Amino acid sequence: MRTYNVGILGATGAVGQKFIHLLQGHPWFKITELGASERSAGKSYKDAATWIEPIDLPEDIARKTIQPCRPEVMEDVDFVFSGLDSSVATEIEQEFAEAGVPVISNAKNFRQDETVPLLVPEVNGDHIELINQQKFTKDQSGFIVTNPNCVCIPLSMALAPLHREFGVSSIVMTTLQAISGGGYPGVPGMDITANVMPHIGGEEPKIGEEPLKILGTYGGGKVDFAKIPIESTATRVPTIEGHLLSVTASFEDKPKNADHVKEVISNWKSPLAELDLPSAPEQPLRVYEDPRFPQPRLHSYREGGMQVGIGRIREASVMDISMMILGHNTVRGAAGCSILNAELLAVKNYIK
Ligand code: NAP
Repeated sequence: MRTYNVGILGATGAVGQKFIHLLQGHPWFKITELGASERSAGKSYKDAATWIEPIDLPEDIARKTIQPCRPEVMEDVDFVFSGLDSSVATEIEQEFAEAGVPVISNAKNFRQDETVPLLVPEVNGDHIELINQQKFTKDQSGFIVTNPNCVCIPLSMALAPLHREFGVSSIVMTTLQAISGGGYPGVPGMDITANVMPHIGGEEPKIGEEPLKILGTYGGGKVDFAKIPIESTATRVPTIEGHLLSVTASFEDKPKNADHVKEVISNWKSPLAELDLPSAPEQPLRVYEDPRFPQPRLHSYREGGMQVGIGRIREASVMDISMMILGHNTVRGAAGCSILNAELLAVKNYIK
């Protein structure tokens, strides 16, 4: 595999920093450009960013000058990752795509565009063909691929084998979301210390919408959305990383019992297994039998943060099955999923 020069838009933020961390030593992708707002542009990365990752800030990154997020300035790239604030992502991501630069984004702005894949490679890798419907450039050299919200990624991954086997008919769920999900510096310490915030603005509509596209069926140049009502309550809890979801589902074809559900999840085979992608976890879904698990502090970083843990799978007295689902929000739920998306796009020859 050749190597690719990679830019990061929003490089100073929580997700941008996770990109820098995860791309250290990546066999295919080399960071060549870092972009952020006009507040940071012109400064060295070390001076512009408050580094919050648990590794030393790499020397070459520390010295690099931050660029404004413009394609004519961030020139030395084969594609860009975006960890841009959603207030600015539409215009900037579109500019890069129109300049012929593929954009692999974490922002919500293009997730519901009918020509833009909302991609979780293990679940809906075939949706990348939507790129062929995009009109940013005549030759499709510039395009946008998004990854879903940090709750919707682990939720869709856990539901995918169950939806295929039984048909999910409805979901009621509550999230316990880590502080890092709100970016840096995030929620004020006075609000979150020894406390739970019972509302996260804008989160519940995304949870109701995004899984329907991800679990939808691709055909004839479009995605036919899944039809699953999802009622959610999104809360912020005082954990740092790892979103835990308490989910109760009902199904069209009833599983025999909780063991049947565990068996379907455990026997599910990742469609990426053959592709040898550097960031693909060996076991994307892990079922825990111990009722104390999965826990954000103990299990978020399994397989480098790319594995989704599912525990407490049990028969429910209302609806059919309840379970707890854990996903690392800035790795599996953001930068790690984007990097996996880029790896899939590279092996499928979408990124030239
Ligand atoms: P963040 O920490 O607030 O970082 C935002 C980034 O956007 C910073 O690099 C900032 O640069 C840049 N930015 C702001 N205004 C800009 C402008 N006018 N021009 C260019 N760059 C600008 O946010 P985050 O948590 O990393 O989230 C980034 C994106 O990923 C958001 O769209 C978010 O919804 C999404 N996301 C986050 C998570 C998560 O768990 N945190 C998960 C999935 C998706 P400056 O430092 O120069 O201001």
